[in-house]
Amino acid sequence: MTTASGRTIAYNEDSKSAGQRGPLLLEDYVLHEKLAHFNRERIAERVVHAKGSGAFGTFTITNDITHLSRARLFSNVGKQTPVLVRFSTVGGEKGSADTERDPRGFAIKFYTEDGNWDLVGNNTPVFFIKDPKKFPDFIHTQKRDPQTNLKSPTMMWDYWSLNPESLHQVLFLMSDRGIPDGYRFMNGYGSHTFSLINQNDERVWVKFHIKSMQGIRTLSSERATELRGLDPDYAQRDLIEAIDGGNYPQWRLHIQTMTEDQASRMEMNPFDLTKVWPHAQFPLVEVGILELNRNPENYFAEIEQAAFAPAHVVDGIGYSPDKMLQGRLLSYPDAHRYRLGTNYEQIPVNRPQCPVHNHQRDGLARVDGNGGSAPNYWPNSHKTLAEDHRMPEPPMALGGLAAWYDRNGEHDQDHYSQPRQFWLAILDDEARTRLVETIATSMRGIEGPYRSTIVERQLAEFAKVDSMLSDRVRHELGL
Ligand code: NDP
Repeated sequence: MTTASGRTIAYNEDSKSAGQRGPLLLEDYVLHEKLAHFNRERIAERVVHAKGSGAFGTFTITNDITHLSRARLFSNVGKQTPVLVRFSTVGGEKGSADTERDPRGFAIKFYTEDGNWDLVGNNTPVFFIKDPKKFPDFIHTQKRDPQTNLKSPTMMWDYWSLNPESLHQVLFLMSDRGIPDGYRFMNGYGSHTFSLINQNDERVWVKFHIKSMQGIRTLSSERATELRGLDPDYAQRDLIEAIDGGNYPQWRLHIQTMTEDQASRMEMNPFDLTKVWPHAQFPLVEVGILELNRNPENYFAEIEQAAFAPAHVVDGIGYSPDKMLQGRLLSYPDAHRYRLGTNYEQIPVNRPQCPVHNHQRDGLARVDGNGGSAPNYWPNSHKTLAEDHRMPEPPMALGGLAAWYDRNGEHDQDHYSQPRQFWLAILDDEARTRLVETIATSMRGIEGPYRSTIVERQLAEFAKVDSMLSDRVRHELGL
């Protein structure tokens, strides 16, 4: 046993004292180090997605999409890329229960030979908001009331009723899939629109779908409530035990693609995160199989310090004008710099498996060779590093006047058609009944002077989806 500086430790439990019963001597450095390090064990928890579980595995290509993307991880059928996946709930703190009704994070880090590609998605194809400027306000409503420090259905429904673009995701959240049975029995979605770029510098827009090969399983509200007491780490336990038992969970990764020409002719904004691309028009194409087959050796080192960012793409995969994606390009690396420091990508679990060369130097916790004796500026006469002038992406035509577009323009005001389809065509009658009951249970928690204003405003929004939805919730609320 040694101190962090390597000196052997003679007594790990007995402090050096002045006499057998005496006070302690200031010089017992082993005691100082032990207590001081302990005081510093916690790092800031993630402001969202704080409670999570993760595992390592592989991604294997099963279908050729090289005509769409030149990313080398797609280069041939059978090709395998190592991955790390982190699942999470969103609103709860790091010690919160796994069976909350909440979206689930589904973040994948592909360690490709061209650097890390992070697909940082959720278990739902849409989200509550379509503009990142709304994110802190929205998340505040999912966290604790500033005065009572309690979760507040009043804050949630006040916000949702004033933000109709949330409806689609609210219906998903309140439906059966709002509480997945652990992490193995749920789908993942990249949710945003991204782009794929091929060898000819041609771009298509893309959405990623990760479908569970275990099938979909959900928990009833009653069972989830029970499990919050019996086994708050239910999903963590399920994942660890399945992988330890050799029961490796698998998902099929699919894409939907849309040409730039198709996008320009879409009435719906294809970059709107509150909407899906209909399958009939944009069918799923299989790409590969994701398998998780190795539990982490150490949770803190490999999962708590894992840092995913949608900004991390590789050649052949690009961004899109999706406003939420644009916001996340900034906010995820920013969050990691805050939590883990500016050199967070040197932490082993985040380190790319290809060489990294640039002129970034120094900074807190720089733990590699810091560029050694190589120049820390560019251009320079040494010519050891060069830019790669092959076109990273084809140019993109942008248009319009710079302004703050209220709700993203006229065709994006339709917050109701897709929720209506979900309510009428996707759910069967029993699922609709459970949805109504779940909504009513949650809305019964609305309190305070604005109670009836909030309830009536939300019922009016439900009525725009379908009058039956509104009427049934009203009836269930006893109004
Ligand atoms: P489709 O009938 O082609 O697809 C319906 C989709 O709904 C499938 O992806 C299915 O995925 C999923 N689904 C089935 N049951 C449920 C459920 N209980 N809760 C959540 N999702 C479910 O229809 P469209 O593509 O035209 O979309 C119609 C509506 O379906 C949309 O408005 C949207 O609300 C919903 N939806 C659409 C998705 C998309 O990407 N197009 C994805 C998910 C939902 P699974 O294989 O998981 O059962």
